[in-house]
Amino acid sequence: MKAVVVYERGGKYEVRDVPMPRLNDGDVLIKINYAALCYRDLLQLAGYYPRMKYPVILGHEAVGVVVESRDPRFRPGDRVVPLLHEPDGTCEFCMRGLDAYCINALSYGENVDGFFAEYARVSGNALVKVPNEVPDELAVLVPCVIAMVYKGIKRAGLTHGETVVVTGASGGVGIHAVQLAKALGARVIAVTRSPDKAKFIRQFTDDVITEQRFSKVVKDLTNGVGADVVIEAVGTPTLDESLKSLRSGGVG
Ligand SMILES: [Zn+2]
Repeated sequence: MKAVVVYERGGKYEVRDVPMPRLNDGDVLIKINYAALCYRDLLQLAGYYPRMKYPVILGHEAVGVVVESRDPRFRPGDRVVPLLHEPDGTCEFCMRGLDAYCINALSYGENVDGFFAEYARVSGNALVKVPNEVPDELAVLVPCVIAMVYKGIKRAGLTHGETVVVTGASGGVGIHAVQLAKALGARVIAVTRSPDKAKFIRQFTDDVITEQRFSKVVKDLTNGVGADVVIEAVGTPTLDESLKSLRSGGVG
């Protein structure tokens, strides 16, 4: 089969013919329908991931169809999305049901082969079925950016009608955070530096702020109270203003 193989630190990769993946008990072979390119792939190519093994098939976001299964929970024909990491199922976090934090997890496209390939081997423990009504081009985005944002929002304890500020709202994380918070019933205030991008974001959100010192505007928009939740999708340049945007007891 064909696959994108990273063969050396420093971004060296090529499309190669490689053997079909071999399955162990508990594994599932999937035919990849779509794979998405993520900023993390570029960071991995740039050498920012010290656990990268070489050679490795790149790619950690995919949707596909099961062609062979050694896990009784999956059957050929099931449409599935792999998670980012493959838990060992036995560490202290896995035993507590927190397999996303498995301390021995293998990461697809990093230290176990990923999904820029015609076929991939995935552990059944790292696989979820896709509902019929969700098309491939949406399902492929779920495991990385959308799941991360969703988990953050859930941990923040967002309830219907609360105010959420999203920084970096036009970026790959931010634009999904805006839509997800809105879908969960929040009042969303998007922060972006670019007036052009603000025009585009406006269709998804209640308010858009382009000011650099946005916390004052957030306070004005919330009767001086501040936001219940801030989703900080930029980092150092906006962190201070994000903290100042929170209401007393708010969550960032
Ligand atoms: Zn990703």
